[in-house]
Amino acid sequence: MSVINHDVIIVGAGLAGLRAAVEAAEYCDVAVISKLHPLRSHSGAAQGGICAALGNEEEDYPLWHAFDTVKGADYLGDQDAIEVMCNDAPRAIIEMEHFGVPFSRTKEGKIAQRPFGGHTRNFGEAPVRRACYAADRTGHVCLHTLYEQCIKRKVRFYSEYQVLDICETEGVVCGVVTYNIRTGEIDVFNSKAVMFATGGFGRAYKTTSNAHANTGDGLGIVMRHGIPLEDMEFVQFHPTGLYRLGILVTEGARGEGGVLRNASGERFMERYAPTVKDLAPRDMISRCMYQEVREGRGVGTAKDYISLDLTHLSLKQIETKLPEISTFAKIYLGVDPSKNPIPVQPTCHYAMGGIPTNVDGRVVTDEKNTVKIGFWAAGECACVSVHGANRLGTNSLLDLIVFGRRAGKDIVQFVRETKGKMPVQKDADKKVREKINNILSRTKGESVGKIRADLQQMMMDKVSVFRTEELLASACRDIKSLRERAKNAVVQDKGKEFNTDLLDAIELEFMIDYSQTIIEGAYHRKESRGAHAHEDYPKRDDANFMKHTLCLVDEGGHSEIKYKPVNMALAERNWEYREKFVAKERKY
Ligand SMILES: Cc1cc2nc3c(=O)[nH]c(=O)nc-3n(C[C@H](O)[C@H](O)[C@H](O)COP(=O)(O)OP(=O)(O)OC[C@H]3O[C@@H](n4cnc5c(N)ncnc54)[C@H](O)[C@@H]3O)c2cc1C
Repeated sequence: MSVINHDVIIVGAGLAGLRAAVEAAEYCDVAVISKLHPLRSHSGAAQGGICAALGNEEEDYPLWHAFDTVKGADYLGDQDAIEVMCNDAPRAIIEMEHFGVPFSRTKEGKIAQRPFGGHTRNFGEAPVRRACYAADRTGHVCLHTLYEQCIKRKVRFYSEYQVLDICETEGVVCGVVTYNIRTGEIDVFNSKAVMFATGGFGRAYKTTSNAHANTGDGLGIVMRHGIPLEDMEFVQFHPTGLYRLGILVTEGARGEGGVLRNASGERFMERYAPTVKDLAPRDMISRCMYQEVREGRGVGTAKDYISLDLTHLSLKQIETKLPEISTFAKIYLGVDPSKNPIPVQPTCHYAMGGIPTNVDGRVVTDEKNTVKIGFWAAGECACVSVHGANRLGTNSLLDLIVFGRRAGKDIVQFVRETKGKMPVQKDADKKVREKINNILSRTKGESVGKIRADLQQMMMDKVSVFRTEELLASACRDIKSLRERAKNAVVQDKGKEFNTDLLDAIELEFMIDYSQTIIEGAYHRKESRGAHAHEDYPKRDDANFMKHTLCLVDEGGHSEIKYKPVNMALAERNWEYREKFVAKERKY
């Protein structure tokens, strides 16, 4: 067993991983491991923007931003973390600009800002311009910029290495086990600090805006080490995925003035959210769209989609502010958005839940927030939790750079204070080798693709925007049988080089594990809150469910559910804005 040594191992080269790497590489020897080339990480697909109360286009304050985030999260977000994020946002954006991000500009040359769902002025009065953007390629430019900053700081990249396990010695996380996708070799890395920034898991659903690589591997790996996942039942469906494909049309399209219409051309969001209309939060709009379709007002021959109308925008506005999505509509649906409305449907987009962490990115393992030594997580795979039950658009990119940096800083301090490295155990790679040999030795059984397709369809049918007791109970049974079927899944390719068939099989096991936490979390949450709309319990129930779910599933599929309290720092502080942060009915 060969062992590769670094001070710090960061798994994942999206914005969260790279931002942490930039920070830590100033002082330590940092390696970033990624199953993709860094620039192919899903962060590069982010379109609409990254928010901060810069107040460049109109009056705005971090306090208003914090209010919107708390309310958007349906009061399940941890208020200490939300305060940290919103206060740090303006600094974080200016820093990204100084790193080299080419933001779109106002006439005066300041960073331009546009409205986005759920972001308002003066505690909910009207939409506010808070989202900074670079046309509709914001994630792309941020990712390239941070990658360059990493190269400048001599961060060592291991691309096309897939992490399959973490190494633990005496309860301390001290490395990872990787599979070299190019050669099929298994390597062990030893470090003082390990950080996961492995991104989201939209691929557990059939219709999704997420890249193929978003299979949530990190979540499956941590559960094998007894770390539960937090708030997994909250899965965000973005209102505007291209019809039948799920490819994203940014909310920026509505930020620029686009509106949603039903079959009779009615701008129906005026009925549901009179103040902010088409800029209501995503959970709400997705539900309203489903409602319109259910009540027979869907568009098209099957009456199953909604129109996103941009035809009243000027051609210049579409070409300069929304070039990417306008090309997508033309290529994939043959629709020119300047002439015809774009057919859209809600698409699985974002995971509010994930690996529980504190505000310094340290992974915590229980309801008492006990820290796992040597282990950090940030970005979409983590749950800090700033998004609670529903994330506001443009708050994810912000979350990545704020908490990526904080984790990086904390890691530096830890590395400096920790003298020797905890060694990896002699047989650290044994479990991974056994797993791979087991999968390759199977000769009879179903294909991985078939089981994965059934999982994705089941999650879509039973655990998506609207949930019921009956659907969730049936999903609990389905996941058991999918787990059994996966044990015998056969891979055709028995080779070593680029054996994606084998990796698909391993990813499928992770997907089944965390999908069960989504189902169980949803089954046990007998209320409706944010993205979790339970038709048998249509009201929010603060008395019983104002708490975070912690769900752990073991290899055999046995689950354990615990809860931990929500941090209400802003509602409990003795100050003039206290009342604003106390939980109340969420109206827009
Ligand atoms: C189409 C789209 C548009 C979006 N637009 C916006 C927007 O405008 N504003 C906003 O705020 N948010 C947006 N989001 C959400 C946001 O982009 C994501 O939440 C965010 O980019 C996630 O970043 P990350 O750094 O956590 O992970 P990612 O960028 O997803 O990167 C994950 C990394 O982990 C690596 N990895 C995963 N598993 C392994 C493994 N087992 N071994 C090794 N490496 C591994 C991958 O190679 C990759 O480098 C959008 C999302 C999508 C899908």
